[in-house]
Amino acid sequence: MAFDFDLFVIGGGSGGVRAARVAAGEYGLRVGLAEEDRYGGTCVIRGCVPKKLMVFASGYPDQIKDAVAYGWDASCGAFNWPAFRGRLEAELDRLETVYRGLLAGSKVQSFDARARIKDPHRVVLADGREFTAAHILIATGGRPVVPDDVPGAELGITSDDVFHLGALPKSILIIGGGYIACEFAGIFNGLGSKVTQFYRGAQILRGFDDEARALVGDEMRHAGVDLHLGTNIVSMDRAGSAIKVTATNGMVAEFDQVLFATGRAPNSADLGLEELGITLARDGAVPVDDYSQTSVPSIFAIGDVTNRVNLTPVAIREAMAFTATVFGGTPTPVDHDLIPTAIFTQPEMGTVGLSEEEARENGPIEVYTTSFKAMQSGFAGRSARVFMKLVVCADSRKVLGCHIVAPGAGEMIQLAGIAVKMGATKEDFDRTVAVHPTMAEELVTLRKPTRTA
Ligand code: NDP
Repeated sequence: MAFDFDLFVIGGGSGGVRAARVAAGEYGLRVGLAEEDRYGGTCVIRGCVPKKLMVFASGYPDQIKDAVAYGWDASCGAFNWPAFRGRLEAELDRLETVYRGLLAGSKVQSFDARARIKDPHRVVLADGREFTAAHILIATGGRPVVPDDVPGAELGITSDDVFHLGALPKSILIIGGGYIACEFAGIFNGLGSKVTQFYRGAQILRGFDDEARALVGDEMRHAGVDLHLGTNIVSMDRAGSAIKVTATNGMVAEFDQVLFATGRAPNSADLGLEELGITLARDGAVPVDDYSQTSVPSIFAIGDVTNRVNLTPVAIREAMAFTATVFGGTPTPVDHDLIPTAIFTQPEMGTVGLSEEEARENGPIEVYTTSFKAMQSGFAGRSARVFMKLVVCADSRKVLGCHIVAPGAGEMIQLAGIAVKMGATKEDFDRTVAVHPTMAEELVTLRKPTRTA
């Protein structure tokens, strides 16, 4: 059968665009791509990119205070949210244009429409147009979810809305203790909002190394975030222009905004999958095998819609593995092991591999830690501490995990991640000469284990 396209991609985010570009540009295939919203997806339009720009914006007051301590005559003044938002919007417009240009440059035919799968080789656009394709790739990403058991929850916002706020809230309550909640707590705190955060568990950033996340929590509090652990929201009511919140700890307070950062769900609804016999997972994820193939051989899925590891660079890897497998003749499973990642909290956290708690399960291990005042901010009189940890297998000597809480931890963990991925041993770290004076040099000068387990 002659198909209209060799590949039809649904979703124009990081994963979908990469797969489409590689299939068309490198393999010379006929590729169509449908996107119902803006090109660039979560990362570019409402995630990593605008978030990181807000992290930068929120860091200036402390930097200016430090500059004064270093002898500069400087003062910060007020933050102009509309001015920043205007620049942010212009930057996102520019990036979206780049994404569209990349697709056009690779001769991908783009459709600004929602698409639905009608049969294993056919998609239908919202305007009724139908196309056939040898392969269909679902790359529709995810979306924020709000608990459905909180009366008044519709008064709150999600991370999607943050970048469009008309005004910077004077006060904001953030619900959740994951990446998004903690990153926005730091952002709004730095920008000058009074930030309260409720997390239902015992410590924020569940799943990460206990000591590292405890330090992030302590430093967030020290920076001014009013963090309530073991606390959740009960109900929300309108109170004039504010929102009145009742909490499980009995607290009743008013906030300008309430941000739900209570997790994300795959965008898998109404794609036509169930009709084709693809049963979605309980969380809505599209089930796939190691090659991102669904139970229908011509249909594949990558990125957040599969809810494997929900990170942009992972979606891009999954796209590359998909194209190599399906079009390159090289079956390539996606390697989800030892993925370095950073959480852009203030202070930043970078991590790769096993937490101490995970590694203990398979012991024996040696744990090397260091904690010290960073030179730059310490000179300026700030007490902020840096923390680094190496988790080492006592038998193989391999570094199983590396955890860093420090300014620039994201940059550091990218490089430490190479060593850990290569299987470097503690002795490999030790024989690497320190770069002095840096924070990262501590990673190669950790002499004695802090503890063994
Ligand atoms: P997470 O799943 O990481 O965190 C959700 C948080 O909300 C958890 O603390 C969870 O608590 C809490 N929660 C869930 N349901 C409720 C509820 N009903 N009431 C109260 N609290 C609730 O999701 P995020 O939205 O923060 O991030 C989603 C994903 O996006 C991340 O896992 C990550 O993969 C990616 N991401 C990556 C970033 C980066 O690389 N820097 C930045 C932002 C996102 P509990 O722990 O008890 O379940």
